Amino acid sequence: MCVPLPHSMKNIRGTLYYNRNETSFTTAGRLGKWFFALLFVAEITDTQLVWWYIPIAILFSHTPDVDTLPELFHRKKVAASSAFVSDHRTFLHYPIISLPFGIVSGFLFGFWGWVWCVALILHLLNDLYGTGWGLPLLWPVSTRRYKVLGRRVNRLKYLLQQSGQYQRLPHNERKLCFAVSWSAKELPEYIQKWGMEDWIEKIYMRLTWISGIEYLLFIGACVLVLRFFY
Ligand SMILES: [Zn+2]
Repeated sequence: MCVPLPHSMKNIRGTLYYNRNETSFTTAGRLGKWFFALLFVAEITDTQLVWWYIPIAILFSHTPDVDTLPELFHRKKVAASSAFVSDHRTFLHYPIISLPFGIVSGFLFGFWGWVWCVALILHLLNDLYGTGWGLPLLWPVSTRRYKVLGRRVNRLKYLLQQSGQYQRLPHNERKLCFAVSWSAKELPEYIQKWGMEDWIEKIYMRLTWISGIEYLLFIGACVLVLRFFY
């Protein structure tokens, strides 16, 4: 399934690709949005922040990715590819499980419960675009994975162009869609063919529209954190 982009977004997409360059960046950008959970809850509960709240909030925000641990221990990396035809994103990646857990924890544990709840929501939003193979949003009704702003082949345009595959792909496979989805049956076939072992290098060690958004969020979060403490 590919839901096309609204017409107005196509111009934005062109600009983002045009601005891509070869500058290297680290994956630290991914951490940026996790600060927002802490800042948001601190603001609405009028809680004074202490520096050690930040590593706890970052830890909280990664709890859904506890399902990567078997692969991480076994392979020393997390990458759905032909070498490992499986994508994590189970359990807390199912909104029908994580959202009630988050809300209940908020009512039970107050400040930290709400930080966890907001961190979970941000984690799900993060996993819904950019890297990875989307989320099974409708589980258990459907095991279909959904992703926003993606291609069915789940590769950035510059990578498809570099490898010469862009022109050879059918139009519905290569175009950037507002939303794409994969059935549980076809997902392994796509991962086998299009998954990348070196996705961090290809997406985050240079300025792409995905890394660009995340580094901007990171910078914004750092500014907000500094304003909170000084
Ligand atoms: Zn995740």
